[in-house]
Amino acid sequence: MTPLGERLAREIAATGPIPLARYMAECLAHYYGSRDPLGRAGDFVTAPEVSQVFGELIGLWAAELWMRAGSPPKLRLVELGPGRGTLMADLWRAVTRVPGFHAAASVHLVETSPTLRRMQAAQVPQAVWHDRIDEVPDDAPLLLVANEFFDALPIRQFVRTEAGWRERMVAFADGRFFAAAGPLPADPLIPPSLVAAPPGSVVELAPAAGAVTAEIGARLAAHGGAALIVDYGYAGPATGDTLQAVQAHAFADPFAAPGEADLTAHVDFGALRIAARPATAWGPIPQGALLTALGIEARTATLAARATSDQAALLRSGTARLTGDDAMGSLFKALALTGGDWPQPAGFA
Ligand code: SAH
Repeated sequence: MTPLGERLAREIAATGPIPLARYMAECLAHYYGSRDPLGRAGDFVTAPEVSQVFGELIGLWAAELWMRAGSPPKLRLVELGPGRGTLMADLWRAVTRVPGFHAAASVHLVETSPTLRRMQAAQVPQAVWHDRIDEVPDDAPLLLVANEFFDALPIRQFVRTEAGWRERMVAFADGRFFAAAGPLPADPLIPPSLVAAPPGSVVELAPAAGAVTAEIGARLAAHGGAALIVDYGYAGPATGDTLQAVQAHAFADPFAAPGEADLTAHVDFGALRIAARPATAWGPIPQGALLTALGIEARTATLAARATSDQAALLRSGTARLTGDDAMGSLFKALALTGGDWPQPAGFA
C-alpha cells in the first residue's frame, strides 16, 4: 500500500467512505507532484510530445485570431497544465515573425507540480507561474490553451440503483479500495434527460472543470480573447463510466495504487459549453479535422523536405498519429471559446 493509500484507508475507517472527487484530487496531487509522467519512460504521451507541429499550428491559430481581432497591444497568453512546456515553446517559436505578437503577449503557466514547473522553466524561461487561473491578472484579452488538462480534474460519479440515484463513494475493506454507492438520494443532481436511465447507469459531473471554464468564460466576456481546449471526451449529457487509470502506457485499476497511476475522466464538452457562458462556444470538432484545416499536411511536408530521412519519417508518423481516426484524430476533440468582439476562430467553420 502507498503512504497516500494508508492515509486514505485510515480516514475511511474513521469517518466512512469518501467522495470519488476527493479520492481523485488526493491521488492526482500526489501523482503529478512527484514525477514527470510524460514520454516513453513515463505513463503516457501527449500531442505536443508526439510532434512539434501540434504546438506550431496552435500558435499560428492563436496569432491569426489575435490579428483579426485588431492585434490588441496587450495580451495574457495562458496555458493550463503545460506538462513539459513543449506546446508553449513550439507555439512561441512559431509566432516569432508575427508582427507585434511577442511584444504584446505575457506568458502565464498554470501548473501545480513543482517537478513540471522546473521542466517548463527550461523551455519557457519568460513565463510567470500560477497555481490557479484566478491568479492570472485579469486586465487584458486572454488567449488560453489547454491540452489534456481538463481530463486531469476530479469528477463526481453517480450510479442509478434500484432505490434511485446515489453518489459513488470510495470505500475500503479487506485491504483494498473500491467504489460503493453512498446512502443519500442524489436524483436532483442528475441532468433531467438522464434521470430515467436504467439501474447500473453512471453519470459524471465535473465541478472543477465547470468552475475553471466559468472563470475563462467570464474573462473572455469582460476583456475579449479566445481559448482552445483539446482533450478526449464527448458532448454530453450522456451516461457512462469514463474514470480510468493509466500506468506505464497501459490501463490499470484506479483503486489499486492511490497516487501512483494517472487518473483521468473523459471531458464533457457539452457541460463546458454551458459553463463558458456568456462566452461563445465553437465545436467541439475532432482534433484531426482542426489540424487538417490548419494545414498540418503542408506544414509537415515543408519540415520533412529540410529534415534527414529519419526525421522526415518521424514527422510523417507523428502527423498520422495526431490526425488518424484510428489514433488521436477523432477521440480527441477541440472546443474553442471566444468573447468580446473576437471573431470566429479558424478551423471552426
Ligand atoms: N498539456 C501537457 C500536459 C498534460 S498532463 C501536454 O499536453 O503534454 C496534465 C498537466 O496538468 C500536468 O502539467 C499537470 O501537472 C497539470 N495539472 C494537473 N492538475 C492540475 C491542477 N489542478 N492545477 C494545475 N495544473 C494541473
